Amino acid sequence: MVQEATHLGAAELMELEDKYGAHNYHPLPVVLSRGEGVFVWDVDGKRYYDFLSAYSAVNQGHCHPRIIDALKNQAEKLTLTSRAFYNDQLGPYEKFVTSYFGYDRVLPMNTGVEAVETAMKLCKKWGYKVKGIAEQNAKIIFAAGNFHGRTQAIISASVDPGATTHFGPYLPGIEIVPYNDLKSLATALEDPNVAGFLVEPIQGEAGVYVPDENYLPEARRLCKAANVLFIADEVQTGIARTGKLLATCGNCDCAKSCENHYESRPDILILGKAMSGGVFPVSAVLADDEIMMTIKPGEHGSTFGGNPLACAVAIEALKVVEDEGLAENAMYLGKLFRERMRWMMEKTSLVTLVRGKGLLNAIVIDDEEDSHTAWDICLKLAENGLLAKPTHGNIIRFAPPLVMTEEQLHECCDIIERVVLAFNK
Ligand code: PLP
Repeated sequence: MVQEATHLGAAELMELEDKYGAHNYHPLPVVLSRGEGVFVWDVDGKRYYDFLSAYSAVNQGHCHPRIIDALKNQAEKLTLTSRAFYNDQLGPYEKFVTSYFGYDRVLPMNTGVEAVETAMKLCKKWGYKVKGIAEQNAKIIFAAGNFHGRTQAIISASVDPGATTHFGPYLPGIEIVPYNDLKSLATALEDPNVAGFLVEPIQGEAGVYVPDENYLPEARRLCKAANVLFIADEVQTGIARTGKLLATCGNCDCAKSCENHYESRPDILILGKAMSGGVFPVSAVLADDEIMMTIKPGEHGSTFGGNPLACAVAIEALKVVEDEGLAENAMYLGKLFRERMRWMMEKTSLVTLVRGKGLLNAIVIDDEEDSHTAWDICLKLAENGLLAKPTHGNIIRFAPPLVMTEEQLHECCDIIERVVLAFNK
């Protein structure tokens, strides 16, 4: 492969970030300059399998030609109008995306966290206008261990000291219950001021925690019975990542979503990341009329939300998911991956657990949560041509682009097995 021309080497580029950037991330020491499909290349031309997929934003693979074409074509015509005017891409996109996911309406935003904020506002508005909660009293229930982003409102629902310490005071009107605990949820739902329950179908950042089979459908049933909105944050789990178009989909084999296909259809669905195939931030909040129509002009918005470029890119990114059968591929390869990881576990005591769904998986390393072992394994994996990162301390998440082939997956499992089995703490 031809090496990207750059006058600075890896060490100098890392130094620049270190010197001029805020230290709010701790990246692996790899400097990337190109991506294609399941691969990325560093500035020295070394090729890696990408097993993070930009935190599941690149489900369709890096620089998917159809998505990049859509980007280029639209970029030459019109990129941004703001919502002060209509544009010729937004309406067709809204029709497409609502039919794709089976909702009456969509509210377009940019980043995942903005979409979560939007869902919280929508939920409260519904709580006051439709449910009849007294003004300033609405509450939203969250699950402990959640990750919904980094804004002030959203960290107010976090139990992670890294996310919250020295960032108070926090937003009121938030109640936190344990994840995957229906009893605690049922108790919290007894409060008549509760407007919504906002939950990740699988807790990704926390370390890929997959709840019990009945958790989501039963949580939804409890919410319905209490006249509370069931809100799913599928920013990371959505768009085919977990082997279904959405993690809240049931067992129907169809790639698309409709009422029949949802096992636990959310009242408000939150999407981001792979909505654009990783091209730039595109997020969305979907809901039916009773909820969405509570928001009036001037009450919520975003300069870039619903921009023509995002609309053109998102339509193509979602078509690629369907046309290339990415949900089915994620389901098939995910089973193979966990099988291979479980075989590996039989040969080492270093890995204590493998869990996940579709191609959102994690292995748990037998070590203290604050040890360096998982980080050191990731460094070795990188040396061997595979990029992954620990989520929390001793947990390594494996989430490759969904365009991976079976042969490539086996090659990656060989790399992981070789590195892990050779690893001494
Ligand atoms: N919600 C979930 C479940 C996420 O995993 C993330 C990011 O990882 C977000 C929200 C925030 O998305 P963004 O970083 O695009 O704001």
